[in-house]
Amino acid sequence: MALLSGNDTFSSIMKSVPSLEDSSANFMRDMAKLRDSYFMKIPDQSKTEHVRSVWNDLWTRAMIALTPEQMKKLGETFLFAAQAHKDQKRKSGEPYIIHVLSAALILAGMRLDMATLEAALLHDTLEDTEVTDEELRDKFGSEVLTLVRGVTKLAGEEVKKFISRDDLTSENLRRMFIVMARDIRVVLIKLADRLHNMRTLEVMRPEKQKRIAKETMEIYAPLAHRLGIYQIKRELEDLSFKYLEPELYAEIVDRVKKRLPEVESVIERASQVLEERLQKEAIPCRIKGRAKHIYSIYEKMQRKKLSFEELYDILAVRVLVSDVSTCYAVLGVVHSLWMPIPGQFDDYIAQPKINMYQSLHTTVIAYGAPLEVQIRTYEMNNLAEYGIAAHWLYKSGGNRIKNLDAKLMWVRQAIEAGQDGDSHEFMDVLRSDILLTNELYVSTPDGKPIILPEGSTAIDFAYSVHTEIGNHCVGATVNGKIVPLNTQLHSGDIVKILTSPNGSPSKDWLKIVRSSKTRSKIRSYFRQAEKIDHDEKLDRGWKLIERELRRRGLSVTREDFNDIDDQLVSVGSGSVGAGIVAQKLALTYLQHHTAEKIIPIEIEHENIKRSNNNKSPILVEGESGVSVTLANCCCPVPGDMITGLSTSRRGITVHRSNCKSVQNKNSDKLINVSWANPDTSTVSPPRKPEVYTAKLKAEGMDREDLLSDTTKALGLEGASILGIKATMIGNSLMHMKIEIRVRNLEHLYSVMAKLHEIRGIIEVTRV
Ligand code: MN
Repeated sequence: MALLSGNDTFSSIMKSVPSLEDSSANFMRDMAKLRDSYFMKIPDQSKTEHVRSVWNDLWTRAMIALTPEQMKKLGETFLFAAQAHKDQKRKSGEPYIIHVLSAALILAGMRLDMATLEAALLHDTLEDTEVTDEELRDKFGSEVLTLVRGVTKLAGEEVKKFISRDDLTSENLRRMFIVMARDIRVVLIKLADRLHNMRTLEVMRPEKQKRIAKETMEIYAPLAHRLGIYQIKRELEDLSFKYLEPELYAEIVDRVKKRLPEVESVIERASQVLEERLQKEAIPCRIKGRAKHIYSIYEKMQRKKLSFEELYDILAVRVLVSDVSTCYAVLGVVHSLWMPIPGQFDDYIAQPKINMYQSLHTTVIAYGAPLEVQIRTYEMNNLAEYGIAAHWLYKSGGNRIKNLDAKLMWVRQAIEAGQDGDSHEFMDVLRSDILLTNELYVSTPDGKPIILPEGSTAIDFAYSVHTEIGNHCVGATVNGKIVPLNTQLHSGDIVKILTSPNGSPSKDWLKIVRSSKTRSKIRSYFRQAEKIDHDEKLDRGWKLIERELRRRGLSVTREDFNDIDDQLVSVGSGSVGAGIVAQKLALTYLQHHTAEKIIPIEIEHENIKRSNNNKSPILVEGESGVSVTLANCCCPVPGDMITGLSTSRRGITVHRSNCKSVQNKNSDKLINVSWANPDTSTVSPPRKPEVYTAKLKAEGMDREDLLSDTTKALGLEGASILGIKATMIGNSLMHMKIEIRVRNLEHLYSVMAKLHEIRGIIEVTRV
């Protein structure tokens, strides 16, 4: 036993007062213990050295961002996942847990939040193990469950659906994107999952390698690019390229290696010169030489049709500085040291790329070769590596995702990003490409994505959900607020349509809506409605007319008439009375169904003019003093076209020229006659000098007073009545034979016109 020496005492006293360093060391030691304790608890078959080392890496990286409490949660999640996957192995023979750990490690490197790391560890549990939704919710909460479900669904339904189609059009990519982008973290987990699968692709059969590589090249690499996650994009591209074009890939790798020393020496020299110069200017910076990734070299060779030897810039120098103004200062220095190549300068700081990438790019001639120099801030560099993910991590600070609505975060972030500086232009570009086109990405309250042309309104939305919803929409809420239907939507809006059974489109909508699809749906609604309206009027019209006809004793069907639709519509819409049309139809019907043909009146105005003279005698061509009789069959009156017929007994009988008695007669018996002007008349006056007999037939719908109204009208017109004989045809049609005396044709026509005006009279004709 020994007494404590002074030194020992001093040292033990010093140790009992915890210094900052000591407490930090203790903390690290405790954390390492905690980390190892979790590893020790996983199922034995999963306890490989590889699993331990990935778990340790994940732990170390996660500690940068997470609290000790969260680290404990991460450990519990690791245990749960290891338990769930304990009997599963990767194709390589490794325990399955290595896959989810690796995915989580990739995401921890991007400094993602707790829920994302947990979801990454659990991302295959729903699909590949017995674990249920309820279990996940109970143990890890609904945020994690939603993420895991999102990743599972993405793998199970959406992606496969897109992949199974042969046409991987931008449209498909776009649709997939909108589905995934509801929570950016789902996409990030999916990318990490895919990246690890690509890294371990060599154990697969060659066909499977090719298929997965193709899918990665066509979907996941572009997706990473869209999100600006270059780090993942580069690796996905190189890995895919390696499996898709193994020889080309090997060749380029080989050549890069061979040329590396030569190019590296240029880089080294340039970096050194630049660093010294920047130190003199008191500009703190970090300079890195960076090999371009294999696939980008290949792409450039393809694009510029260059051989590998002609490619100089397989390496680039990157200068990282603390702020934006320093970027431009460095640019000045670079351009003063080496000659810039005209047209090779890009200012992505003033004008960021669509995926938010920011940097200055310039190519200069250094030591006889082109050298690309990229200048950016540390933050921009993080953004370039981690893309949109890094962006919101930086912006939202310590609380990160908790403060953000997980849904449509990418849109929110884009809006935030736009708030400092060139916001509008930036947003426009962002909208049109991160959101990919001039399209709106909106969704229903239950998350169904709806893609509409930019400028679309709530009405367009309603119609694109369902035509019937459009036809009955009466209002809308956007992000929970009630808005008018003509409200223009914005990407990210959550739109709910309010409908009513009584709702119907308005013609004004045609002017409001943006999508031509919507417009044609509204038009078709109106076409349909008008057709229904037309059909209804038709039916209503016929019902009214049919009733009128039945009252008149006619039992007929619509089919008994041709071309009456217009009349039916007129009656159906109320613009014409049913009685009037029914009368005409009845006549038409009877004309076709009675033996006697009724000839419609033809008013010949010429004749009326010629009959101005009411005392005209008959002129007989070439003769005078001949006995002239007006035929009783057709009763010509002055003004009628007349023809004389020579008879042995009565001299000349004068008929109307269209009378049957003079038609088909031998022409030698026909004599030209005419009504003479009374002033020049030399022939004997006719038997009835002032008035002439005329015979009329009238058809009318029987009613009380029809007959007396007829005689009254004749009296009013100054036509003396020789006789009226009325008979009934059917139940309701009255047939009248009227014999009257008139002065001439003009008088006769005015009498006939008066008769026509009598209510119920359908037709009046001369016999
Ligand atoms: Mn997976």
